[in-house]
Amino acid sequence: MWKRLSPRATINTPCELTPGFFLRRGLRGLIIDLDNTLVPWGEDKIGCRMRDWVQEIKDAGIKVCILSNALEHRVRAVGESLGVPWVSRAVKPRKSPFRQALKILGTAPRETAVIGDQIFTDIWGGNRMGLYTIWTTPLSTKELFSTKAVRRLERLVVKKFREKGILP
Ligand SMILES: [Mg+2]
Repeated sequence: MWKRLSPRATINTPCELTPGFFLRRGLRGLIIDLDNTLVPWGEDKIGCRMRDWVQEIKDAGIKVCILSNALEHRVRAVGESLGVPWVSRAVKPRKSPFRQALKILGTAPRETAVIGDQIFTDIWGGNRMGLYTIWTTPLSTKELFSTKAVRRLERLVVKKFREKGILP
């Protein structure tokens, strides 16, 4: 049960991951969350450091797709500005939106990473699909009221991970 929720790696920001991190692990595709992973919650302007990082990843030949539960117009704005495809209104952790993203990327689950800030959507969903799951610190403390409630549960789960020594 805990393994299903546990990420394969934890990071403070996607920017700390070099292209080599992905390539060494045979990861050729990257599914990335929008809110509080690529942009602070509810914003659609991407920071210049994050923008450069996405470009660096793309230049290394790693395919990128945004996967977000947010509404189409917001996800599209960021996707178009970065020049990467996207899947919006994703209902993570359901499998079908992850499948849709994999189809766009053209990569197999074992050669695809997912980065997101939420255990119960990004990480659980990614683990269900057999992806390389990477949990990142949220970019801002602002989020949906419902997410704030889920965070309390998330903190309990993370405490359990630490006790069991399974959090990377
Ligand atoms: Mg998020």
